[in-house]
Amino acid sequence: MPSFVITEKCDGCKAQDKTACQYICPHDLMALDREKMKAYNQEPEQCWECFNCVKICPQQAIEVRGYSDFVPLGSSTIPLRGTDSIMWTIKFRNGILKRFKFPIRTTVEGSVDPYKGKPEPDFATIKQPGFFNSPARQE
Ligand code: SF4
Ligand code: SF4
Repeated sequence: MPSFVITEKCDGCKAQDKTACQYICPHDLMALDREKMKAYNQEPEQCWECFNCVKICPQQAIEVRGYSDFVPLGSSTIPLRGTDSIMWTIKFRNGILKRFKFPIRTTVEGSVDPYKGKPEPDFATIKQPGFFNSPARQE
């Protein structure tokens, strides 16, 4: 069930260096046709169906679709991202629409500081084994 770009909606992320879908795909599958300014999944059979590209696309231009030989076509699952929730619009094959809103965070956006309280990295120790913030290095 690979991701599928709806070309009428995709604006190529307005020709930024890297599109949002390229940035987020953990498998580096998304590519941009710079002539047409449209993104596409360059290796659909490798898609993990993780929905990351679907959720990040600012144009709601990506769907994850089943192959037509085992999933009937005509349904869709489209997310609309907010800062603290996602509104999912589910369209069934018979045209019925359902919407579900799910919270996606428990902290304020931008408030997480993963390095808070950790020492500054010391480049003199870069070749030593271990992590920069492991106890041995905090001496
Ligand atoms: S994130 Fe959406 S709008 Fe941007 S290039 Fe990818 S499919 Fe197109
Ligand atoms: S669904 Fe996940 S693995 Fe597939 S193209 Fe999108 S981000 Fe990449």
